[in-house]
Amino acid sequence: MGDGEFDLIKSLRESLSLRRLDAAHGLVEGVGDDAAVLRQTSELDTVITTDLLVEGIDFTLTGDEKTDASVIGRRAVAVSLSDIAAMGARPRWLLLSVGVPRKLWERGFARALLSNAMTYASDIGVTLVGGDISRTLEHVVVDSIVLGEVERGRAVLRSGARVGDQIFVTGSLGGASAGLKILEGGRVRQSHSGARMTSATRGLVARQLQPTPRVEWGALLGERRLASAMIDLSDGLSSDIMHICRESRAGARIEAASLPLDPLLESAGITGDDALSLALHGGEDFELLFTVSERDARGLPSQLDGVQATRIGEVTRERGKVRLVRDGRARLLRPGGFDHFGRTRR
Ligand SMILES: [Mg+2]
Repeated sequence: MGDGEFDLIKSLRESLSLRRLDAAHGLVEGVGDDAAVLRQTSELDTVITTDLLVEGIDFTLTGDEKTDASVIGRRAVAVSLSDIAAMGARPRWLLLSVGVPRKLWERGFARALLSNAMTYASDIGVTLVGGDISRTLEHVVVDSIVLGEVERGRAVLRSGARVGDQIFVTGSLGGASAGLKILEGGRVRQSHSGARMTSATRGLVARQLQPTPRVEWGALLGERRLASAMIDLSDGLSSDIMHICRESRAGARIEAASLPLDPLLESAGITGDDALSLALHGGEDFELLFTVSERDARGLPSQLDGVQATRIGEVTRERGKVRLVRDGRARLLRPGGFDHFGRTRR
């Protein structure tokens, strides 16, 4: 980290008064030296993840710089927090690197983005311990690295599901991909100011732009050893359940009627097969999908901080196969595909 970046981050930290978090998290030396120093103990495992967001690929700028800095700064951190949660760990430290083109640089865009990201992270108890800022020729690039902690040996892997385990999902499904379709359809502006937006479509767009990682659920499932396997929903339920099945050498049966559809879908007039398809195949809900033994399922809280967990199916011995049960019939559910109703064999 160069002196300029250090000064920027130092001044942000002071203005946001983030110092109080440091000692509590075992931070020996944070921003200001060549590298951060974190105190480790042998009772804990460290969990690390990184996400790279590239303008034009992972997000588009609206031209409303204030909104863009807020949305992108928050989102960059949120997707990494979700990965830490999916390991059953508690997020602790953040490293954030930002590249911005000259024009945005001169308008303080990098500072605004960092400030938003740091504020959001600190609200969740995560300290920024490093990062870098550079200019790019054209596009905005953000790299977010989050480190989390979990009691030794308790990280929840994708490979731990056992036949007969119950399958659960937090929150609701399909909202984020509906929001993406609304944005891509150009019917609304990303700035949230589009006059034609109803509160339902505005809510769906927010589900896309401002995902809420299930940090408390993830930490609880790890700390109490409740989840046998877990993943966060980034690609979509039909793809992500397959990751658990493959890694666990098992299969799954999902009950269509049990899927917790995002209530905003119906409010926005998205129902029936359209809603089901978004819930099954739409990505970026950043909910947690996890398996729990039948015995441990009884000890599962029905909600945490107002977020429910819903049982949606069961782990089966049909290795690598996911079946969707709908109206009493079980059909093969392929990742991302929805070509099954009405014309596939059982
Ligand atoms: Mg993930």
